[in-house]
Amino acid sequence: MTKPYIFITRSLPEEIVTPFQEKFNVKMWDSEEQPVDREVLLEEAGKADALITVLSDQVDEELLSRGRQLKVVANLAVGFDNIDIKTAEKNGITITNTPDVLTETTADLTFSLLMATARRLIEANEYVRKGDWENWAPLLMAGHDIHHKTIGIVGMGRIGEAVAHRARGFHMNVLYHNRSRKKEAEEKLGAVYKSFDELVTQADFVVCLAPLTPETKGMFHKEVFKKMKSSAIFVNTSRGDNANEDDLYQALVEGDIAGAGLDVFENEPISKDHPLLSLQQVVALPHIGSASVETRKAMMNLCLENVQLVLDEQEPKTKVTS
Ligand code: NAP
Repeated sequence: MTKPYIFITRSLPEEIVTPFQEKFNVKMWDSEEQPVDREVLLEEAGKADALITVLSDQVDEELLSRGRQLKVVANLAVGFDNIDIKTAEKNGITITNTPDVLTETTADLTFSLLMATARRLIEANEYVRKGDWENWAPLLMAGHDIHHKTIGIVGMGRIGEAVAHRARGFHMNVLYHNRSRKKEAEEKLGAVYKSFDELVTQADFVVCLAPLTPETKGMFHKEVFKKMKSSAIFVNTSRGDNANEDDLYQALVEGDIAGAGLDVFENEPISKDHPLLSLQQVVALPHIGSASVETRKAMMNLCLENVQLVLDEQEPKTKVTS
């Protein structure tokens, strides 16, 4: 009997893939960094029983319609905005993601980014390395306090709650906004539910952790930045498209807000000439929210386990539905 065929769109460590090779015929794109060519991906989708994809792979109608024997697409991310879920469901293709295993790691990064932006850590590090540090000065590299300030979390889901937990450790006042209230988080974390407008007006740190959907796309725009405190710091570790980058740039330049910590961008990788990168009050990271070695390996394992379960005609651990 021929083994089911799995195509993985990036090169993953052998130690992760080898245990599955006995049962499956596994082929990987030969680069860890370079995305798979679209034509190759379309061709592979036509041959594969399972695909393991990353967030830059567009799993759209064109691709899904090629999948004559495709049973499952396992996305190496908790977000699935790169996948047309409705078409997958119509075509009987199971979609899985990697929730939970990345929650704490992404919360660590989100809080680190908040702190790095508020306390100007990246700028201060460059200052020392360039040899500019000649004297102590009363306001040298003075940033903004974090402790006892107000954090406003838009998207109080798994990662949002884990960020709130960290914020409580810094004696922060926690506000949150979701489409639905989470009484449990309110009791457990002392978080206070606010409307979106109230949250952006009152928070010192506005943190976006809502998924990218038609509803959230561009939800942080000019008028929203104008409503924020001029001392506010905007942190985005969700998806770049949730904020309008031109408006964010203007808001920073015009002093509507004080800074931004960004792990995600409208176009990734962001061009080094992008105006946002010319601003000292911006800390920019290359989408590394879940990027610890332990967590990335856990995500890879979860993808392969999900694929195996679906190909064995069992329920996957973490299925995405519309
Ligand atoms: P989650 O548990 O599903 O939480 C998302 C939260 O957003 C939910 O509580 C949801 O509550 C809320 N939400 C959805 N639509 C909303 C809207 N229109 N307005 C306000 N809130 C809304 O997901 P998660 O595991 O925490 O992950 C969150 C996101 O983080 C992912 O979708 C992904 O984009 C991003 N992420 C980024 C990285 C990175 O590397 N930077 C890593 C992991 C995840 P309601 O349904 O009640 O509105």
